[in-house]
Amino acid sequence: MTDRYDVVVVGAGNAAFCAALAAREQGATVLVLERAPEDEAGGNSRFTAGLMRVAYNGVEDLKRVMPDLSADEIARTDFGTYTEDQFLDDMARVTEYRCDPDLTEILVKRSLDTVAWMRTKGVRFTAAWGRQAFNIGGRFKFWGGLTVEAVGGGPGLVESLTNAARKNGIDIWYGARATGLLADDDGVKGVQVRRAGRTTFVNATSVVLAAGGFQANPEWRARYLGPGWELAKVRGTRFNTGDVIRMALDIGAAPVGNWSGCHAVAWERNAPEFGDLAVGDQFQKHSYPWGIYLNAHGKRFVDEGADFRNYTYAKYGGVILAQPGQFAWQVFDAKVKAQLRDEYKIRQVTKRTANTLEELVKQLDDVDADAALKEIKAYNAAVRTDIPFNPNVKDGRCTTGLAIPKSNWANTLDTPPFEAYAVTCGITFSFGGLRINTDAQVMSTDGEPIPGLFAAGELVGGIFYFNYPGGTGLTNGAVFGRIAGTSAARSETGA
Ligand SMILES: Cc1cc2nc3c(=O)[nH]c(=O)nc-3n(C[C@H](O)[C@H](O)[C@H](O)COP(=O)(O)OP(=O)(O)OC[C@H]3O[C@@H](n4cnc5c(N)ncnc54)[C@H](O)[C@@H]3O)c2cc1C
Repeated sequence: MTDRYDVVVVGAGNAAFCAALAAREQGATVLVLERAPEDEAGGNSRFTAGLMRVAYNGVEDLKRVMPDLSADEIARTDFGTYTEDQFLDDMARVTEYRCDPDLTEILVKRSLDTVAWMRTKGVRFTAAWGRQAFNIGGRFKFWGGLTVEAVGGGPGLVESLTNAARKNGIDIWYGARATGLLADDDGVKGVQVRRAGRTTFVNATSVVLAAGGFQANPEWRARYLGPGWELAKVRGTRFNTGDVIRMALDIGAAPVGNWSGCHAVAWERNAPEFGDLAVGDQFQKHSYPWGIYLNAHGKRFVDEGADFRNYTYAKYGGVILAQPGQFAWQVFDAKVKAQLRDEYKIRQVTKRTANTLEELVKQLDDVDADAALKEIKAYNAAVRTDIPFNPNVKDGRCTTGLAIPKSNWANTLDTPPFEAYAVTCGITFSFGGLRINTDAQVMSTDGEPIPGLFAAGELVGGIFYFNYPGGTGLTNGAVFGRIAGTSAARSETGA
């Protein structure tokens, strides 16, 4: 027997559920196919903190997505603004002006409205005080354009979206892996599915692909990202292996974007091969702007304070992977201890502490201790201590005369106890993917939309290159997921 739906959505992460809910809103019958079993479902979206970047002109805009903000919370917080122009500038700057201008404009201009729409579906949001604001003199100030997070983080987001799908009569098949697209000269007509060890077929007017990137596939990582990338740890789901990208390419979809690029961060050196839902994103180690990095040769190798962490963390994983042995140590002193993020306090950290720098460097596994001590001393001597430290702004407290400068937040390492944390590269998602147009239709290599085929989220290329402004992945999936679902449901002929 062959099943039939108006719209089949492949994947069950944030982009997929936004597509499914939008299609259902148009009256379509909708099936969600999730390769993972139910207890591992939700893709990378479930591993996130649920942070979503939206453009806003002030707290009144934010109240559209967070109507529960109390008067007291508003009084105690400087939310500032994060205008569409700022978001556009950030996207252009961090992608080195490569991001697709049409898609980026949609991403930015529909960000707030889409998150407000998600709220109407039952997803609740709160202000990200914990991770994105510093409390100075009793008042929180947001510093990085990233203000909104889903209640319950990634797990809360996926749970709310799943509940909303069920409530709206969307069918979900878990343990159902899409293995091919049913297509002929008129376009896509359905999906071939492997479920409970059997191959079945689901017919559909339209198919939305939202099955993530290829980062969990070591062979593709080495092939596309380059030698060494097979050695990276995967931060999130083990199910995003690129096979849905391949299915689309096989029927003539066009690849686009930064196929040798990805989002990758500093990640606990001894973390498992794939993400662990019990730990979530806490293997990451994002407080490097307050300390320094050392590699196996005892050398600094990157400007830890080049920019706010939201604008550097996604490219520094690759920099760590390029170091000898693919690891580094982050070193801090007691002055910044209170500022280290919660993820430094988890049980599963590779951490060393010592009361002198001499003792500390001896404990750094696989590091040239003498060179490390020399490097720290040279760094300490180069810090412009006359410039005050301020984590809320790019404070210009820099080093002078070092081959690798530190441009902001340069603190001397002089106050015991000293701490060091071992990190390696954790890959988040691949940047290259399928080409879509502004209706989220998948484009063919001939430059025409493929009738009946839509895509959203991580497996779409052309949006992120080289780097990424924190919190944009979920917004990207939501904005284009909603568009894909709406377009898919409206496409009566699939065209
Ligand atoms: C640890 C971590 C923290 C992060 N934190 C944030 C954050 O706070 N904010 C932010 O914006 N972004 C964050 N990101 C990035 C974010 O997770 C992604 O950009 C976003 O979740 C991608 O959503 P998606 O729906 O495209 O893919 P996913 O959520 O990964 O969903 C893909 C789905 O497709 C399924 N699938 C794969 N292959 C098949 C197949 N053949 N058949 C059927 N189903 C298939 C998968 O099982 C999965 O359910 C983080 C990522 C990680 C790993």
